[in-house]
Formats: sequence, C-alpha cells, structure tokens
Amino acid sequence: MRWVLNGGFVLCVLGSAACLQGQEADSDWRDPYDSGGPLIVEQAAYDVTYYDLALAVDPADSTIAGTLRMDARMVAPAEVVALDLDTLLAVESISLTDLESAAPLSFRRSGSRVFVELPFTKQPDDDLSLTVEYGGKPRVAPRPPWDGGVQWAATPSGDPWIATSNQMIGADVWWPNKDHVSDKPDSMRIRITVPDPLVVATNGRQEKVTDNGDGTRTYDWFVSTPISNYNVALNIAPYEVLKEEYRSVTGETFPVVFWVLPEYLEDGLAFMPEILEHLRWFERTLGPYPFRADKYGVAQTPHLGMEHQSIIAYGANFDNGAMTGGEDWGFDALHHHELSHEWWGNLVTNADWKDMWIHEGFGSYMQALWLEDTQGLERYHEYMASVRPRMGNAQPTAPRHSLSAQEVYGGDIYFKGAWVLHTLRYLLGDEAVREALRRMAYPTEEAAWTTDGSQVRFVSTADVITVFGDVSGQDLGWLFEAYLRQAELPALLVEIEGGEGARAMELRWQVPGGLPFPMPVPVRLGDRTAVVDMTEGSGTLQVPAGVEPVIDSENWILRATQGPGFAR
Ligand SMILES: [Zn+2]
Repeated sequence: MRWVLNGGFVLCVLGSAACLQGQEADSDWRDPYDSGGPLIVEQAAYDVTYYDLALAVDPADSTIAGTLRMDARMVAPAEVVALDLDTLLAVESISLTDLESAAPLSFRRSGSRVFVELPFTKQPDDDLSLTVEYGGKPRVAPRPPWDGGVQWAATPSGDPWIATSNQMIGADVWWPNKDHVSDKPDSMRIRITVPDPLVVATNGRQEKVTDNGDGTRTYDWFVSTPISNYNVALNIAPYEVLKEEYRSVTGETFPVVFWVLPEYLEDGLAFMPEILEHLRWFERTLGPYPFRADKYGVAQTPHLGMEHQSIIAYGANFDNGAMTGGEDWGFDALHHHELSHEWWGNLVTNADWKDMWIHEGFGSYMQALWLEDTQGLERYHEYMASVRPRMGNAQPTAPRHSLSAQEVYGGDIYFKGAWVLHTLRYLLGDEAVREALRRMAYPTEEAAWTTDGSQVRFVSTADVITVFGDVSGQDLGWLFEAYLRQAELPALLVEIEGGEGARAMELRWQVPGGLPFPMPVPVRLGDRTAVVDMTEGSGTLQVPAGVEPVIDSENWILRATQGPGFAR
C-alpha cells in the first residue's frame, strides 16, 4: 500500500510517521505509468472534442516544450476538471483558451493528475477549452514499446532517431490529456518543431512544413478522425519518404507512405509491395481501411512496433521473425500484426482496457488467417499451435470490472483471445467466423463506406458475444463465460473401459464454478471422426475393437492441456 503526501509517495510501514499521517493521504494520487481503469468524476464530467498539440522537440538535451489546447463538451456540472501529465514534466500555466486577459487557473497535481479549478461551475453542454503550457525532460522509455516513454536513439549514421511509445503508461507521459481510452477527440492537430534536417512523421495528414529560419522546421499535421491518445506518436529522424497512391476496395485512393531511414532505403523499397499486399488482404478480409481520409503510414522505429493510428511503428528491421521469436513464417508478421490494429484497436476500440483482448486477440488471429489464405490450412494450424503455449491463465482475460492497461496486459489477451476465435471457428465454421469478423469491424455496409470519423466506435466483449450469436443463430454466452470470464481453462476428463473388444468412452467437461460448457468433442476412430454431443457437459462414445481413439485430432478446442489425444 502506498500513502501519498504532496504528490510524492512513501511506503507505509506500520506504526511509522507516514502511516500515522495516513489521514492526510491523497486519494487522488495516480500512478503516472499506468492508464485507464475507473474514470474519476473530474474526467467523466467532460467529453474531449479536439486537441491541438504544438511541441518543440530538442534532441540536444532530450527536452520538449509546448502548448496543448483541449476543447471539450461538458456532460455533467463541474467546478474542477482533471487532466493527466507525468510528474517529470512541469506545468507552466493553465488557462481558459482565448481569454488571454483572464488570470491563469489554479491547479493542483497529484501523481499524474492535474486538477484544474474553474472560475465558475460549468454546466452540461457548456464548452470547455483549456490551454496548458508545459515542458521538461520526458520519461526515457526503459523498455519500449512495452514500458514506454520517449526513446532518444541514433541512426546507424549517428543522427537523432526519436520515437514515442506509451500504450501501457498513457500518452500523458509526454503530453497533457485526459488519459482514458474511452475518450477520443473527434480530430487533432499536431505541430512539431525539430532541428533541421530532421523529419517528423506522425498521425493524420501532413498539411505543411514551415521553415522557421532559425535552424528548425515545424511539421503541421491534422488527424481528421477520432484517435486514441495512446496512438498519438512522434517519429523523428532524417527519414526518406516512400509514397504510393493506393486504391481501396471502395474505389477511393489514399496515400500509403513509408518513412524509412536513409541507411535502409533499399530494404524499404523492397518492402513496399508487401505493405500493399497486407493492406489489400485486410481490406478483403475485414472491409475498407478505416482511415482513408488521412493515410496509411509506416514509420521505421527504434522499438519493435505499435499500432499508432495511420502511422504504425515498424521496428522489425525487415526481419520476418522479429515478432515470432526468430521464426520466419514467410511474411513480415510484425507489420501484419500492427496493421491489423487499424481495424482491431483503432476502428473498434475497447472503452475499458478490460476488453483489450479484442485488440490483441483479434489482431493475433489475423496472422493465422493470413497464413491460411497465402500458404494453406496446415500452416494456419501450425501457427495456432505455435502460440498455444503462450497462455498463463492466471486471471480472467476479459473480466466484467474495469481494468487499467497495466492490469490487463499479458500473453492471454493475445493468444487466449486468438484461440477463442479459433475454437469458435470449429464450432461455427470458417464462413460464419469470417462473417462475424467483418461485422465486428463494420456492423453495417454504410459504416464501411464512411470516412468522416463516425465509422469509429467503442466495443466490449458483449459486442463480440452478440455479433457471433447473431451470425450463427446460437446463444454463445456459455463459451465466452467459460473462456474469458474465468481464469482457468475448461478441462476435458476422459474415462475409457479396459479390455479387448468394443469399449465405452466417457467424456466430461470440468469448468471452473461448474459452469455449463456444451462444447461437442470430435474423436477420431480410425478413418472416421465421431462428434460426441456434450449438451449436458458430458457424453459417451462406443470405441470399436482395435481402434485407438484420438480426441480433437486437429487441435481445435481450447482446453486445459492441449494436444491431440490428450485424455484426462
Ligand atoms: Zn498488438
């Protein structure tokens, strides 16, 4: 337990002075290096409509300095609203935008929280616009992209190569915002000033570059669609820019741009066709690329990768095995995975990190489908088998209560999530699952054709249950309840009679809490497969003489100990 005094924190040792002062503990304190969880009232009171971030980045001393304007609409009355900003960064002033004569507003900081006192009570539907001047030395990313911040790296030639990554810790590690995944601005302006000859690649569309005449240039970008704060990203280097006009399945064209280091120009040129090939496959599989109004961008980064909207971070270094423990599956899995997030994460976004498996599980399943479509079903199964050991089952993958990004993160949101889709495919068939994936991405044909931002929406596990239920005509609540709301996996218990001749085999599902789990079980008996009805959670099968039964020989059903033929 941590008691917090004056924004810092001290460990509470029983009987110590810090503990005795417990009543002074600041319950508003917030860990700067986490994101999400329950929304506090000072943030629930408003809905962000617009951010304008103007920031100077100085690689010489690893500092940033800038101004953030936030426009919002009040949804509840409030005299105090809260933003977030890492304690490493100083707040110079906070004021009501466009009221320059007005006195700066009072504010109080507690961990990452910045509580701003308004001069009067804002009413529901009122507009709120705050301007924050801030700066300092932002957190240096200890282990990007997982433990993020700002990375001040160098290119092979020794030039600055700067990247941000902050999904788990929140974008407030480098700019002030309402650090909660449930609130995206409708649009955003990003204006970044850097020394010549550095180039800034970020989200949205580049509108102009201004030479400031002082050895710096300002890159002016505009994001026309709603964007998660954590997706806002700086990518700064003396980049070369590779650009293609791409024709979407909708017939619209938009730019596909790859910012590559000069040292990797040849690799970048050689990689461009694969970028386009992945994009085409995703459009065919899930529906149109969602951010056609802006672009699809890829920026070469000094960290492995991140799904930054319309400017994904690519740090695989043209190594197909960079994301898959060195194993080359015949395609750039990292690029494929990050691109998948333009649908799973950026088009549809969890409103609370408790449902992050929709980003990562759906995203991971896409690599298996790609393998099936390009190399055959056997490769699909090999890929699914390769990720099966990477589940911990220590906590429910998608619980009903709110979780922060740090709390939910782990292998299960990727691989248990992907395996739930894999098992659904066994139960419902390939066509139904692919149809459900398309409907999860775009619930209507109209949404697929939209580019004004209204195509973007929030989803939860409930949406997945409903969509798969609608497509299949089955009530699938039991499956999600057992797989995602419980930590432990269902186990299949098998008893088989001994002796010569035909034998009776009995199968029984054992599920945490005794939950219903009517998952039918395929058993191979020589050259045929029998499917054991498990409606009541158990079933029996007659095994002919001389036949060795193999349970789930194709490895479809996610269960406690995996592998064909495992009995018990
Ligand atoms: Zn991912």
